[in-house]
Amino acid sequence: MSVRLLLVLLSLLVCTVSVQAAPPQSKNNPPAAASTGVDVPILLYHRIGPTVADGMTIKTSLFEEHLKYLRDNGYTVIPLRHLIDYYQKKGPAPAPKSVVIVEDDAHKSVYSDMFPLVKKYKVPVTVFVYPSAVSNAKYALTWDQIRELKKSGLFDFQSHTYWHPNFKKDRRKMSPAEFEKSVTMQLAKSKARIEKEVGGTVDMLAWPFGIYDDYLLKKAAEAGYVTTFTIEARNATASEKLNKLPRYLLINSDQGKAFTQILSGSAGKRNIVF
Ligand SMILES: [Zn+2]
Repeated sequence: MSVRLLLVLLSLLVCTVSVQAAPPQSKNNPPAAASTGVDVPILLYHRIGPTVADGMTIKTSLFEEHLKYLRDNGYTVIPLRHLIDYYQKKGPAPAPKSVVIVEDDAHKSVYSDMFPLVKKYKVPVTVFVYPSAVSNAKYALTWDQIRELKKSGLFDFQSHTYWHPNFKKDRRKMSPAEFEKSVTMQLAKSKARIEKEVGGTVDMLAWPFGIYDDYLLKKAAEAGYVTTFTIEARNATASEKLNKLPRYLLINSDQGKAFTQILSGSAGKRNIVF
């Protein structure tokens, strides 16, 4: 037998083995992202304003450029809830070129700068709120504004804990018992307050500063959160764990090519400092 023939036979054998090894697609064995096309960027904004006042602010004009790019290039902004329904097997897979938009912190610019554009482009947005600031801190939305945004049908409000603690620092300075009590309060009180003020179900949580670990994930599940969100910068695929979905934290340099790379999932590692 020639070496060439041997190589051909070997490659055939490898192909056969790999085909046989491919698991059948079933409910318990979800298909890989490539075969379903699920590849959804969850775009995370913080503050929108006429000037870039800090690292977390995106110019209002750039936010509009993002929305215009999505519209003009065949993307569909879907409600975050639709993506969660898919992961919970309550809804269909999101269509190709689906994108999700979220905001953390319920900054007042959600009302002043984001809302007019959200109405203009008719895109759904999920806002992660920490209630201690609402109707209290100068930089935050008020409950009345939140209710008005919700009434527009374009906004959903979910939890960002009660007062945005740094769980890493808290764990260092508190006793284990104190820490557990604090975490339980942060998760439960936020959910209860938003449900009372705004209505609807609060079962999604965005981790402040993106800080979480197995203990916190367990506490979130116990508090009734079906899903939590990190700031791991990559697209959500079919094989995600529902309790830690990735999101892209956007900054003002995410324009032009940088933005299209995020959409295509090829943005690479990002160094965002809080
Ligand atoms: Zn935050």
